[in-house]
This record gives sequence, structure tokens and C-alpha cells, in this order.
Amino acid sequence: MSNRYISQLVWSRVHDFHLTRKKIERARKKRLEHLWKVATEYVPGQQERLRGAQAGNLKDLDPINKRQMMSDPGAYVNQRILHDLQISREDLSAHLLGQKTVATIEEKIRITKTSGTTGEPGLVLNTQATWNRQQAWMIGRIGRRSFPLTRVLGLKQYRIAYLILDRPWMINNQIANTSQRSARSMMDARTFSIEQPPSDLHRALSDFQPHFIMSYPNILVGLARARMQGKFQWDPEVLLSSSDLLDPSQYKEISDAFPKTTICNMYASSEFLPIATSCRLGHLHQSEDCCIIEPVDTEGNPVSNGEFSDHILVTGLLNDFHPFIRYRMEDEVRFIEAPCPCGSPLPVLEIRGRRNPEIPVKLGNGHVKHLNSRQVRMAILKTQTFDRFQVICKPDIWLVSIYPEVQNDHELRQFDLQHRSVISHCLEAFSEQHGLNQSLQIKIDFKRLDLHDTRNLKRKLFIIEK
Ligand SMILES: [Zn+2]
Repeated sequence: MSNRYISQLVWSRVHDFHLTRKKIERARKKRLEHLWKVATEYVPGQQERLRGAQAGNLKDLDPINKRQMMSDPGAYVNQRILHDLQISREDLSAHLLGQKTVATIEEKIRITKTSGTTGEPGLVLNTQATWNRQQAWMIGRIGRRSFPLTRVLGLKQYRIAYLILDRPWMINNQIANTSQRSARSMMDARTFSIEQPPSDLHRALSDFQPHFIMSYPNILVGLARARMQGKFQWDPEVLLSSSDLLDPSQYKEISDAFPKTTICNMYASSEFLPIATSCRLGHLHQSEDCCIIEPVDTEGNPVSNGEFSDHILVTGLLNDFHPFIRYRMEDEVRFIEAPCPCGSPLPVLEIRGRRNPEIPVKLGNGHVKHLNSRQVRMAILKTQTFDRFQVICKPDIWLVSIYPEVQNDHELRQFDLQHRSVISHCLEAFSEQHGLNQSLQIKIDFKRLDLHDTRNLKRKLFIIEK
């Protein structure tokens, strides 16, 4: 397994040195044809929608969303591969519906869970092969500018630090584990939990002195501030920001603190690795040969060139086990028509809305503290007893509505009785950890969700009121 991972890594890296428009278009066409064929023949959940469309013509196809694909997750995977893996569709569905925290099935299928920024829970499935393929392309694209081939070939051992939330089913954890397990000869990759106090985190990093750090933008900004304050002296070679939108002010703050370091930005999701990676000029280049992005308006029609989309439809070209074809994501993006002076043949993509807002809390001394909603989300989901929730955030009070998976009011009351104290405890601990317990009140309410109400599809996780 690890040899295959490494050979794919080297191949994607070499391939990227000689990338041309022609090669991108050829790869895209070939992969889309393959995906289409596989989905038509072996993916029961996709067959009906593909039947009405002309092969390879995405525009003919109705979009699909997370909820549709989650209605019967076992039906949306490639049954031929499933058969080869000697797993039955029934067993797969039982696994997916029954287990909340498992991250693999018999080491054959990897499960990534997306709590998502829209509050809709989802699962993404990969075999070792599709996972390795996506990892290799992702690292190939990042490596295009951030580490020399001698690194990839392991001629000098590379120290990598993943500063992430420690949850086995989250994509960043799985990326970290893969590099730890599959490429041990080439790199010393370690995970550092961002839930520890920043001073402990900085001390642990100073001991390790990583060449490469991957984390969320707000954590990298924290690191940049600590560096400016002289809390440590070393410089990594590369800082990679992923998961949330890295805005220009954050980019500047990080590059000012680490002038010798290459700052890299990656736009990806649990479903699609990689969507886009930044060049030396800070522009995001879309990996058109790995996934196809269609920016559309509220009605689902293509937006004109240079216009921001309401949402996007994404087709992933690397995962033929769990194909996502014209899959709706809520990001606001646009393509920039002018070619980038960096010379990359990949088109430039600009993102405006990745919906992980900052949440302001008014402190007792009158100051306002901004919290990253990702961390709030993880604190709320910590008990792993439910997936859906919504928070109305006012400066001094959060109204948390929790929607457990229950059939009736009786079950809802039972859930409330069993879980309220643990959930409250998690939130109190979070509040205390961030020094908010004097200023912020948190109210929890348990509710039933009407799954047939389509308005819930666009429900925001955090509604921020001033
Ligand atoms: Zn560029």
C-alpha cells in the first residue's frame, strides 16, 4: 500500500512539472468519461439521473445535494468495487447508518464525515486506491511550489506538523494519518491538537521545529502573532492554510511574521481533494484535471464570466468509488479570466464565501472577542450524539437548538433527559477555556427537525445577530 502511495506521489509531482492546457483538457475529458461510465453501470443511486443525460454532458444533468446522496448512502457507491472488496451493500449501509465515529470499514473503506458549514451531515467514502490518488494529487499540487523533489523522494527527512482538531473521522486527521503511516520513510509527520493552550502548542512545535505546517487560517495567525512577539525563533519552510478561507489580511499577517516562509493556501473539502491551491502570487489555481467547478446563480444557471456564484456544482474526477457528479456546495466563487503572471496553465479561482463565520462575544470589560465558528461547531458536536444543530449568536447569549435523530416527541424528551447535562458540560468547558464564562450565557433547546421542509437545506449553522 505504501509503495503505491509513494509512486503515485512521485508521478503526480513529475507530471505537474510539465503541465499544459492540452494535457489538462485531455486528462479532464478522460476522467469524466470514466466516471460517467462507472456511475452509469455500477452506482444504482446515480443511474436514473444519468440515464436522461448525454454521456459526459454535465449541463444535461440535474444537480444533486448531500441530503439526496445520504438518503441511501450504500446505493451511491460503485457496487463492482464493493463486490471486489467482499463487502455487501447491506453491510455497508448498516455500518454507515449505525456508527457515528468509525473511520474505516475493515481497513478497506475510509469514511470521512462532514459536519459541514451548512449543518447537513454527510459521509464521503474512499477505497485505499481512490484515497491515495487524491492524496497524491493534492500533495503534487501543493508541492508544485513548496518543496523540492528531493523532499518528495525522501533524500532529506521532512518534519511535518498538522495543527488540527483531533477527530478520527475528520479529513485533516485522515490526511495526517496517511502521511504518518504510508510515507514514514520520507517524513516525520506529527499531529498537534489545537485544543491545547497556545503556549503549550508553541512549546511543542519549538521542540519539533517542523519544515512544513498545515493548519486552519486562524491558528496560523495565532502562530504568526506568537512569532512576532518573540515567543519562538524558528521559521518553517512552508505554512499551508486549509479548510477555511484565508483572507488577504490574514495572509499579510502571516507572511509579515514569516518572511522567509512560503505561504500556501488550499481550497478543498472532504468530498474533493484538491479543488485549488495557491501559486507564489497568492492566487488560487483550480485543479481542473481533478475536479470540475461550475459557478451558478440561485436558479442553478451558469453565472457570467467574472461574476460571483450563489453556489457551485462540483464534479470530482478522482473518486470512482463514491462519485460526486454536479454536487451542490454552498461556496461563492468566481473564475478570473486573465491568465496569472505566474505562468500556471490552471485557471484562477477566487472565493468569497466559505461559510465559517467569526462569532463576536462581548466581554465584561467591554472588549469584543472573535471566535472561529469551526471551534464552536466542534465543541457543540463533541458528544457525538447528534449531527444537526443551529445557533443564534447574540453578543452575550447563544441560543443553541439541537436536532437529534428522533421519531417523535417522546423520543425527543428521552434524548433531552439523557444528554442535556453532558452537552451543557461540553459547552461550559468550552466557554471557560476561552474565558467567556463571565460574559456569555448559553441556552440549549432540543427540537425535532422536519426533514421534508426544503428550507432546512439552506439552513445556516450560525446566525449572528448584533
Ligand atoms: Zn498564479
